[in-house]
Amino acid sequence: MIPLNGGDLHINWQKELAQAFTSPEQLLDYLHIDPSPWQQGFQARRLFPMRVPRPFADKMRPGDPADPLLRQVLPLNEEFELVPGYVADPLQEHDSALPGLLHKYQSRVLLVLRGGCAINCRYCFRRHFPYADNAPGREGWQEALAYVAADPDINEVILSGGDPLMAKDEQLSALFDRLEAIPHLKRLRIHTRLPVVIPTRLTDALQQRLSRSRLQAVMVLHINHANELDTMLSERLNQWRRAGITLLNQSVLLAGVNDDAARLCQLSERLFEAGVLPYYLHQLDQVQGAAHFAVSDEQARALLAQLLIRLPGFLVPRLVREIGGELSKTPIDLGLEPC
Ligand code: SF4
Repeated sequence: MIPLNGGDLHINWQKELAQAFTSPEQLLDYLHIDPSPWQQGFQARRLFPMRVPRPFADKMRPGDPADPLLRQVLPLNEEFELVPGYVADPLQEHDSALPGLLHKYQSRVLLVLRGGCAINCRYCFRRHFPYADNAPGREGWQEALAYVAADPDINEVILSGGDPLMAKDEQLSALFDRLEAIPHLKRLRIHTRLPVVIPTRLTDALQQRLSRSRLQAVMVLHINHANELDTMLSERLNQWRRAGITLLNQSVLLAGVNDDAARLCQLSERLFEAGVLPYYLHQLDQVQGAAHFAVSDEQARALLAQLLIRLPGFLVPRLVREIGGELSKTPIDLGLEPC
C-alpha cells in the first residue's frame, strides 16, 4: 500500500520511529479493517503497549484481519489469560550480573543497550523485563565494560535490548571504539529487529563503521514471515553482506503466523535471496500473555521434517528452545534416524 509519508525513501529512521502507530484503532483504520470484533482486546495495551512503525504496517495486507504481520502486533483479549507454565520471566533474566549486562553463556556476554524496541511484538519474552531497573547509566557502562575487559574467556559481545539499533550511530560507534580496545574480543554481534520494521535504519554510516572494525561483525535479524522482507530491505541487506557483515536470522515459531511448512520454506528462500542465512527457529518462550502463539513440539518436529525434504540443508534453521539457566540453547530432538 502507499505509505502515508508519500513514499519518500529518504525519510530519517528516527522520524519513522516517532510516527509509529500506538493505537490499534488507528492501525486497523489504516488497513481498512473493521475494529469491532477486536475492540475488547485492545485493553491488552495496558499489559504491554502497542508500537508499530508505518513501514511495517505497509507490508501488511489491507483488509485482511488474519494477516500474519498484523497478528504479531495487535493486542488481543487472550493476553489476559493466565496459563500454567507461562510466567513473567521465562528465561530467568531479571537478575543480571550487573545492570545492563547478562552473562548467560561462558564466552559471550549480552549488553542490554537500549530498553525499548521500534516494534512491540506481542509474544516478546522480554515484555515484562524491568528495563528501568537495568539501565546502567554512565558509571554502570564503565563497570560493564570493565567486567568484559577483566574476563579473557569472553570473546564475543552481543548487543541486545530492547533493540540495540535504537541507539544513534554516533553512540554505537563510540561503544565499538571501547570494545575494539579489549584485546580478547573477537566478535561483535548485534541482535535486532529494527531494520525489519524500519529499513532506513540500515544507514551507510553504520555499515561502513562495522566494515572497518577489527571485530568480526555479525547481525542477527529477527524475521518470522517472508512478507517482512520487501525489496528495499532485501537490497539493503545484500549491500551489508557484500560489505563483509555476516547476516543470520532467527525466527519464533508462532501459531497463525508461520506454523506452516510452505510459509517457512518461503521465508528461508526469501532470506537467502537477501543474503541472510536462516539460523534458529525458536519454540516460543513461555511468557505470560503469549500462550495463544504456542505451537506444540510435535507439530514443530513435523514442520522441520517437511523443511528437510523441501529445502537444501543450509536453508533449514535449527529448531531450538531456550531454557532459563542453561548454558546454551537446547536443540529439540527431531527423532530422525542417523544415516
Ligand atoms: S523486537 Fe524483539 S525484543 Fe523487541 S519486542 Fe519484538 S521480540 Fe521483543
